[in-house]
Amino acid sequence: MEHEDTERYDPGAVEARWQAVWAGERAFDVPNPDVATQPDDSSTYVLEMLPYPSGELHMGHVFNYTLGDVFTHIRRRQGYTVLRPMGYDAFGLNSENAAIKEGGHPREITNRNIEAIRRQMKRMGWAIDWSREVSTAEPEYYRWTQWIFLQFFERGLAYRREAPVKWCPKDQTVLANEQVIDGRCERCGTEVESRSLTQWFFKITEYADQLVDEMATLESWPDRVLTMQRNWIGRSEGARVVFRVDGSGEELPVFTTRPDTLFGATFFALAPEHPLIAELTAGTEHETEVAQYVRHTAARSTVERETKEKDGVFTGRYAVNPVNGEAIPIWVADYVLMEYGTGAIMAVPAHDERDHAFAERYGLEIRQVVAPADGSTPAEAGAYVEHTDDEVLVNSGEFTGLTAPEGRRAITAWLDERGLGEATIGYRLRDWLLSRQRYWGCPIPIVHCDGCGIVPVPEEQLPVLLPEIDDYLPKGRSPLAAAEDWVATTCPRCGGPARRETDTMDTFVDSSWYFLRYADARNDDAAWDPQIVDYWLPVKQYIGGVEHAVLHLLYARFFTKALNDMELLGFREPFSRLFTQGMIYRHGAKMSKSKGNVVSPDEAIARYGADALRLYILYMGPAEHDKEWNDDGIEGTARLLDRIWRLALEVAVRGPVEAPAEGELIRTAHRTIDRVTDDVLRRFQFHTPIAALFELVNEIYRVKDDPERAGEVRFATEIALSLIQPYAPHVAEELWSRLGHERLWETAWPEADPALVAMATVEVVVQVNGKLRDRLRVAAGTSEETLVELALASERVRAHLNDGTPRRTVVVPDRLVNLVA
Ligand SMILES: [Zn+2]
Ligand SMILES: [Zn+2]
Repeated sequence: MEHEDTERYDPGAVEARWQAVWAGERAFDVPNPDVATQPDDSSTYVLEMLPYPSGELHMGHVFNYTLGDVFTHIRRRQGYTVLRPMGYDAFGLNSENAAIKEGGHPREITNRNIEAIRRQMKRMGWAIDWSREVSTAEPEYYRWTQWIFLQFFERGLAYRREAPVKWCPKDQTVLANEQVIDGRCERCGTEVESRSLTQWFFKITEYADQLVDEMATLESWPDRVLTMQRNWIGRSEGARVVFRVDGSGEELPVFTTRPDTLFGATFFALAPEHPLIAELTAGTEHETEVAQYVRHTAARSTVERETKEKDGVFTGRYAVNPVNGEAIPIWVADYVLMEYGTGAIMAVPAHDERDHAFAERYGLEIRQVVAPADGSTPAEAGAYVEHTDDEVLVNSGEFTGLTAPEGRRAITAWLDERGLGEATIGYRLRDWLLSRQRYWGCPIPIVHCDGCGIVPVPEEQLPVLLPEIDDYLPKGRSPLAAAEDWVATTCPRCGGPARRETDTMDTFVDSSWYFLRYADARNDDAAWDPQIVDYWLPVKQYIGGVEHAVLHLLYARFFTKALNDMELLGFREPFSRLFTQGMIYRHGAKMSKSKGNVVSPDEAIARYGADALRLYILYMGPAEHDKEWNDDGIEGTARLLDRIWRLALEVAVRGPVEAPAEGELIRTAHRTIDRVTDDVLRRFQFHTPIAALFELVNEIYRVKDDPERAGEVRFATEIALSLIQPYAPHVAEELWSRLGHERLWETAWPEADPALVAMATVEVVVQVNGKLRDRLRVAAGTSEETLVELALASERVRAHLNDGTPRRTVVVPDRLVNLVA
């Protein structure tokens, strides 16, 4: 019986009340241990990627942080001390571009957004340790970013050189290779250009092998992310082969993974940025044409260079192939990129698609040098022949007849003996370009002195404060250069006049170590105390978007390894376990203002409450998949909470009743504990526990008015509240208190009794035409309809039905399903 006069569920009031309690108590702060304390199994670190304060929170954040929150609550209630901090990735293009758009100063706009985000986070009721909050754009933080830069600089891991770099014409700054996605700026989507500039780099290439090899020590990372990193690093075995310029003898080394095809090299190609080009053509009839071509291609974007028809120009010079002494023409071709390999290739048009297209266009020789071992498809002359697993060398002098792997070994050994080449490992990874020609970033703590050269700012002079300037708009050179009073300084080494470095750091530098700072966030004397960092880290569970696979996630691993080598921390991987969540779509597209399909968290909270939003965002589907927002869906979870509200108040009115040791509802409650706990902790699955809670509440409603079962009903209702607490902490807390209990957020997580779980589970036999084909383990009392559905979902059953529908079905509840084909 439902009472008309039952107090209405008012999420706004309930949520405000408990948020005030948690804030007042600082309920989720965790103090640091005494530094002498050894880490124990009961401390854990749960972390989600920190937001850019370039606007307010969106549903993607709500999803990410609610995932982490449910995990945090369950771990806390299982007795773990959980470190769960939060901060803001406040420097960088995101924030600066937001400020430019709004026409304010980046600091002002960023701080305003931080306040809005903090307010939203509190409104969501997330269990965050606010005592450790950091903003990467505050001097207390970036002082240590500068200190870390100096540690890298001292060890040669940060250096400056002139190099061809990627330039975003819209953002007016250089980009790291990792920030160029398919030839476009990762931030704004503009096609990037190539420029030659003197820039700062981190020597991440020195860690290429470790970044690949030490993946083996990661407990649980998505294969997709590991594969992306492995491909990005691009380690491959091959050979360095030295060609020479015919006439001058100048060396032209190339890296190839296929030295067995060396006899098929019919031309040689240099990237337009190759430093030897001018020298090769100086004073020849080709000089002007080549120089024009080089100028022309420099203005082209990488996308254009990689996707359009290949073109190039002949230099008039030849390179000598070391295996056969053949002189092959040297071309300049824009499909050869300076940043890969040596910026030069030996072209084997018969077995490389791009070389083949180029050779066809310019009428260059195409010579096959490998063929299928069984001789099955003799290709016509000039054809492109794809590599196969089983091929032998042809037209390759003394090496003809060898298999491809034998040929690779034999030709490499032959070159090595003569000093013409050697086996080597090639990498696709390039050093991380960290300097930016933008205002809103961490100043690089370096001074340029005419006498002393590049001089690091002494540690005791940190932080080098970012000057306040009015005109911070990007102009192609760093806006800091205009702050003349700031730029002019004295050389720390000789005391003479000097100039400050005016580029700022890539914002990915700030986020490469924030997870370390959280561990010791209020330390004014050091970036961190190594003992404290070693106590909390590595992060036991990291949660964030897959779009950072070769950006933040690669950089953070590099920083951790380098800092470990400097003995500043005691581990080599920052994140033991990683979970990458899917994206939230609406009307089939990512939510965006321009598409008009945004539901803001504030809107959803105002209408349904934070608890309903928290439940819905996780109920949408498997956490790793992309999902579609549906307004009816959140109404469904809001109704569930309403049902729980009415149920719990009814139970509260009846007063305490002893729970019996036995009973169907007792067993169902234990089975639900088991499902929720197992799904979240073992399978990192967050939507199925909500389905289990829906079922439990339905079961309780079915019998709640039976006075004989009041004890069971009260027990199951309390379990439902206890289990829903991580998802809907406000309403669960309120109802828990109405039932006469206290502090559910600190109450031990319920444990399932295995015997009762087993009793609540039955084995149902599935037959097709009377023959046993499968067995299902389901909850006792599962409806006939559901049993047939589950039986039809079984692969084995479907196979015996030949994927048809059964003519007739016979069901014996809790025992058997027979399908008649
Ligand atoms: Zn851009
Ligand atoms: Zn000096």
